[in-house]
Amino acid sequence: LTMAQADIALIGLAVMGQNLILNMNDHGFVVCAFNRTVSKVHDFLNNEAKGTKVIGAESLEDMVSKLKKPRRIILLVKAGQAVDDFIDKLVPLLDSGDIIIDGGNSEYRDTTRRCKSLQEKKLLFVGSGVSGGEEGARYGPSLMPGGHKEAWPHIKDIFQSIAAKVGTGEPCCDWVGDEGAGHFVKMVHNGIEYGDMQLICEAYHLMKDVLCMDHDEMAQVFEEWNKTELDSFLIEITANILKFKDADGTHLLPKIRDSAGQKGTGKWTAISALEYGTPVTLIGEAVFARCLSSLKEERVNASRSLAGPQRVKFSGNKAQFLEDIKKALYASKIISYAQGFMLLRQAALEFGWSLNYGAIALMWRGGCIIRSVFLGKIKEAFDQNPELQNLLLDDFFCKAVQDCQESWRRVVSTGVQQGIPMPCFTTALSFYDGYRHEMLPANLLQAQRDYFGAHTYELLSNPGKFIHTNWTGHG
Ligand code: NAP
Repeated sequence: LTMAQADIALIGLAVMGQNLILNMNDHGFVVCAFNRTVSKVHDFLNNEAKGTKVIGAESLEDMVSKLKKPRRIILLVKAGQAVDDFIDKLVPLLDSGDIIIDGGNSEYRDTTRRCKSLQEKKLLFVGSGVSGGEEGARYGPSLMPGGHKEAWPHIKDIFQSIAAKVGTGEPCCDWVGDEGAGHFVKMVHNGIEYGDMQLICEAYHLMKDVLCMDHDEMAQVFEEWNKTELDSFLIEITANILKFKDADGTHLLPKIRDSAGQKGTGKWTAISALEYGTPVTLIGEAVFARCLSSLKEERVNASRSLAGPQRVKFSGNKAQFLEDIKKALYASKIISYAQGFMLLRQAALEFGWSLNYGAIALMWRGGCIIRSVFLGKIKEAFDQNPELQNLLLDDFFCKAVQDCQESWRRVVSTGVQQGIPMPCFTTALSFYDGYRHEMLPANLLQAQRDYFGAHTYELLSNPGKFIHTNWTGHG
């Protein structure tokens, strides 16, 4: 005889799952643990979970029988087929109104598909972004749940109590929206993470190769920056990385191979941007920067024959240029987030989701990799005006970019003259200049398209009426 005693079950006892279970246990919830390889349930109960209220299950049937109703089951397994396999096995064991939550890094379209198929079976499905890595899962992740909203009242308490807290205890977790909205928001978070990281790398490159600074000096600058509007997890860890010394007493960073890997969520963001026609250029460049970095052997080869500009020693004011780099980084970061929110807005339109942008900024404010003070400002902007068309049009950000503008342009031009690649600094500035132009040269584009393909064009004086011109006078 088993008693329904567990508040929630979690399937998937790898690092994320184990940590999330212990987090839920700390907050007073009774969790039932299960894993495909059942021996890992015993290992977990006898080690990491020893002395906790966590219980285990021998099979899915056993797990289901131990759950209070409506049953709540979190999957934290490898994204893809493993999620579908578990869902298929769970469906016949569950009752109408029971809730399956996928906390893995699933593709948002898979989540939408699963929502639809489980709806037919009268089960509730939630796809939740989980960010913050192992540490986050254990002590407070950023959680981005979406899917069947009827599930939210049943999971809200658990989710918000285990999530990271900011300010006066506000949880970094709120309902995101229908279908795959939670996983879409998580995907954009990861894309923004790529952008933030690349921006910091470009600042580092300029400090190192234009200002010829040493590692401890650079670490100090990042530490200082972390006390300003740039205050964020990624700036903080960058300072620590720059300082870090190897066992032999020398800095580790310059010994690391300059070839970056990626798991794909940044790429998915860029693909979505192309798919929905939103100019999320900075994340795109950040993904391509990783691709270029990974062509290490080709670059070593090319470096022998492709010359850069004549290098002149930096003769300006170093402190001023450091301040310029900081402002270029800040302005570019604002552009990146503006673009990220443009993509969210476009997806909301595309899929009929109603997204709360202020709540999303708060979800990213703590717990996750892009956590920063800056996201608090973004939340304020969307709280003040939920209909805000673009972050750049908010008073605070409009002024902030204005204040950075001259520095930003100096950094880009100096970097270009010195031959330093700055894909994200430069694309951000180009975007800014494009977005603020009432008139772009696309009139010529339209004329070209009409010339060779009779694609027609509109006149400024008569928008909506498409006309064709016979540009050559023959045919
Ligand atoms: P993982 O290595 O992605 O997955 C391991 C877990 O998945 C194990 O429980 C494994 O069971 C199970 N699994 C794998 N293939 C399976 C299959 N075909 N059928 C059934 N079960 C299968 O573990 P993780 O790093 O803890 O991540 C879990 C999820 O969270 C992933 O979706 C990941 O992308 C996401 N995530 C990870 C992080 C992070 O920092 N690691 C952060 C956020 C989100 P067995 O023990 O039986 O092999």
